[in-house]
Amino acid sequence: MDLQHASDMKSFLPAIRQAQQNLMTAALRQSLLLNTFIATSVVLIVSIGRGPSLPVFLWLVVLLTSLALRDLSRSAIKRFSGHWFDNGVAVKLLTAGALSTGLAWAALPFCIPNFDGTGLDAVIYLIMVGISAGAAIRGFGCSSTALAFALPPQIAMIASLLRTLDGTAIVLALNVGAFVYVTLRSVTAAEGVFVSNEIAKLKATALAESLGQANDDIRLTNSRLEVLANGDPTTGLPNRTLFNTRLKSDIAAATERGETLSLLLIDLDRFKQINDTLGHSAGDMVLYEIGNRLRATVGGSGLIARLGGDEFAIIYLGSDAYDRALVAAAELLQRSRAPIMVGTTASVVGLSIGIATFPQQAQSAEALLACADMALYEAKANGRRQMREFDPELKARTDRQRRIEQDLEAAIHAGRIETWFQPQVALCSQKITGFEALLRWTHPQLGPIAPPEIVQAAQIMHLADTLTAHVAGAVCRLLNRLPALDLPEATVAINISPNEFAIYSVADVLELVTRRHGINPALLEVEITEEAILDTVSAGEQLKRLENAGYKLAVDDFGMGHSSLAYLIGLKIDRLKIDRSFVQKVSESRTNQGLIAALVGLGHALSLDIVVEGVETAEDAEVLRMLGCGIAQGYFFARPMAVEALEAWISAHTVSTDQMAVA
Ligand code: C2E
Ligand code: MG
Ligand code: MG
Repeated sequence: MDLQHASDMKSFLPAIRQAQQNLMTAALRQSLLLNTFIATSVVLIVSIGRGPSLPVFLWLVVLLTSLALRDLSRSAIKRFSGHWFDNGVAVKLLTAGALSTGLAWAALPFCIPNFDGTGLDAVIYLIMVGISAGAAIRGFGCSSTALAFALPPQIAMIASLLRTLDGTAIVLALNVGAFVYVTLRSVTAAEGVFVSNEIAKLKATALAESLGQANDDIRLTNSRLEVLANGDPTTGLPNRTLFNTRLKSDIAAATERGETLSLLLIDLDRFKQINDTLGHSAGDMVLYEIGNRLRATVGGSGLIARLGGDEFAIIYLGSDAYDRALVAAAELLQRSRAPIMVGTTASVVGLSIGIATFPQQAQSAEALLACADMALYEAKANGRRQMREFDPELKARTDRQRRIEQDLEAAIHAGRIETWFQPQVALCSQKITGFEALLRWTHPQLGPIAPPEIVQAAQIMHLADTLTAHVAGAVCRLLNRLPALDLPEATVAINISPNEFAIYSVADVLELVTRRHGINPALLEVEITEEAILDTVSAGEQLKRLENAGYKLAVDDFGMGHSSLAYLIGLKIDRLKIDRSFVQKVSESRTNQGLIAALVGLGHALSLDIVVEGVETAEDAEVLRMLGCGIAQGYFFARPMAVEALEAWISAHTVSTDQMAVA
């Protein structure tokens, strides 16, 4: 406790000295005036009793000088303390002043001629006791100053009393001695209390200050944390947390005011590619630039946020929110055509945008987000770099697509995705020349799923290679079965969509599966579209590899794609499959007949087999035969069927063609 007190004293000493100084100077002037008054009264009392006395008069001059000097030092302390001298020196100066007045009062009994303290002049003692008691009381906070004033008169009284050595004087001297003792005790005790109080006050102030500082620090940290929690450091835009809060509060505001809220979800095209090829800092630069473009487009009229990855959002609120959203979407798509410089590389980063509006299309923040997300998904699925608005049909479509995506992987592994085969026959002999493998999936809830839907879902779910390997496995199993069915030279075709080449190595997958099944590549036909052939960047090298490995190449849906025929020479194509739109009802269309005749001529010139698909009637089959088409495929001959049904069909068909040949 004492140690604590000592250390507090040490740390708070300047402040304690300041408090003592304040206390001593506060009513010093009144005290000096009172002293002047009492001293003058004393001189009057003595002069009335004894007549004028030079020593007493001189005493008064000395005392008044001391008082005057103390007043001067008081003014000096007030003006210069803290600048020219510190609080400790000020207290010492005040103590010295008090001592000088105390000594002057102490001299009084010795200046009065024939001083009789126990008789006529007892009143002088009374005044001296009063004056020293007053000093002790007034200086309770600073013992040195109080005692400097109070003790000299008291000691002087004892000294003057003891001069006579009579009984009364001795008793009185003892009383004054006791008074000295009490004065000493109470003045030091009072100073202790004062100092303790001051320390407590100073501690409380220091604590309040440190609490205030801590409070300020917490507020600063909080505001920094708030910026971090609500902002995206890469773009400087609000992040998902703030976006979610704002979306909810803006929806509440729109409901209250009967206004509209439009939400745009924006997704960057090919962003992953930029990150992978140019690095993450390049990706960050792209995000930053996109953030700037969004700001330039939206200005302060909407809230822009980065939701994460390459996804951004804009909220428009107000009666014209929908119109503003449409304008912003168009402007953003326009701006996205300008390349973004990343170091020395200029990249065009396309955008896909989905828009949904509250309350027309959704009644809550979650539902609105889901609707905008569906519209965005649709924009991406339709070829990207475009904007799509939500419509209720979209929801049904999207739900269906999502369900297909969710269930696809399990369906592949469980063998529920089947490979059916559609026969191809030679038109003149009716003999089976091959088969085309076609995907089939009857979803337990959604019913039959069209093959293009399955293929699209597989690409989205990164299962495209798995799906191709799955179909290729079925194709190889059939190829291994065919010699036993007396069709050792029949080919089986597999379809590969154009964008599959950009996603995985088709050549690797096919090589792996055919090698595993020990298949001769010349019996496996790869059906590709013109689109794939023209995409030389993704497919060119793989198609060459397939050709070199000995696979047959067929151009599917010929006539529907691009009109350039140059590729037919550049790549060793084995077959052209004429699209069924030219084939169906060919018997009734002279134009289609002319077109097919021309294509047959082209095939002969380039040594290509011509396959016609979609043959539905005997008339069409006959016309196509007469036009010189070699191979046909269509419902007229057989629909696609599961492999078990296929074996029965092959046996029946072989029997009937043999009979036809005999006849
Ligand atoms: P495609 O390659 O042109 O296949 C021919 C489509 O025509 C098949 O439709 C077939 O069932 C249908 N078809 C055959 N004969 C006739 C007919 O006489 N009349 C009519 N109206 N249609 C006929 P499907 O099975 O619905 O396949 C559609 C498309 O899906 C295929 O067109 C192909 O591009 C794609 N596809 C099918 N299986 C796969 C696959 O395993 N992988 C990939 N990437 N695509 C596939
Ligand atoms: Mg095909
Ligand atoms: Mg086709």
